[in-house]
Amino acid sequence: MAATVIDGKAHAQRVRDALAGEVARFTEQAGAPPGLATVLVGDDPASDVYVSNKQRACAAAGIAGFDHRLAPDAPADEVATLLRALDADPAVSGILLQLPLPEHLDARALTELIGPAKDVDGLTAASAGALAQGRPGLRPCTPTGVMELLDAHDVALEGAEAVVLGRSTLVGRPLALLLLERHATVTVCHSRTADLESVCARADVLVAAVGVPRLVGVGHVKPGATVIDVGINRGPDGLVGDVDFDAVAERAGLITPVPGGVGPMTIAMLLRNTLAAARAQQAPAAVRST
Ligand code: NAP
Repeated sequence: MAATVIDGKAHAQRVRDALAGEVARFTEQAGAPPGLATVLVGDDPASDVYVSNKQRACAAAGIAGFDHRLAPDAPADEVATLLRALDADPAVSGILLQLPLPEHLDARALTELIGPAKDVDGLTAASAGALAQGRPGLRPCTPTGVMELLDAHDVALEGAEAVVLGRSTLVGRPLALLLLERHATVTVCHSRTADLESVCARADVLVAAVGVPRLVGVGHVKPGATVIDVGINRGPDGLVGDVDFDAVAERAGLITPVPGGVGPMTIAMLLRNTLAAARAQQAPAAVRST
């Protein structure tokens, strides 16, 4: 294998260990820990695992966890009332509404009930707008986790050709903006991009966030490129990413595996955002930034 494999699990653990120290100092000084409220509506097994992992990670870092579970048929009013109460609760620094929501609920409208100061998932229009305009604010966790891995491996971004595969509000779009902020030349690809392979093959930094198992093959990759795989696809072989890892690792310079790459970073960044939110709420005049 030519590529160096990025160990996202180990890096996430280092970030979490460092955060635990920062959280302890915050708690001593503020007299109360940062708090993360998670809201899960329904009984989707994958969401249940994600929320439980987030709550466990909070406890390990010394962050207070508020784990709210609502019935699958919970009416919009009930979810809205809970979100408003959490937004007003000073013990809650950050609020995470676990997506997807059951079909009868409007995810966008409910997400907007989270004030920007507590939007630790960075998904409200206010947070997205702040990112688009380069203003301080809480940034979405998965894209921030990707940036953190790139920085931890000293990947040069200024002037680099970066190609982001996927344009979702959760991953692709915010990631493209974060790369742009760091002076990369960014191209965003999607399902209607013509000649995807040759566009990807220009990239010094290629990030795949599409949700199509092993879409990115060796032909999509420039020799020596950094390849970051955000995809998580459950199939007969277990979890696979959007990148054909074995083939691409022969050509890339640096590559993330799935699992054990970007995934663990998402939770680490959520904890970091929660601490940043708590600090900003304690000192509202301070610059709000992750
Ligand atoms: P999404 O909302 O479904 O967006 C997928 C994007 O990929 C869309 O922009 C879509 O294009 C594009 N796309 C789909 N098929 C394509 C193809 N054949 N060629 C080129 N582009 C294509 O997904 P998401 O929420 O961004 O998530 C993407 C993947 O990341 C999923 O596997 C998800 O499970 C994973 N994920 C992982 C983490 C983590 O913590 N590691 C966090 C979030 C998501 P159009 O816009 O044209 O439809």
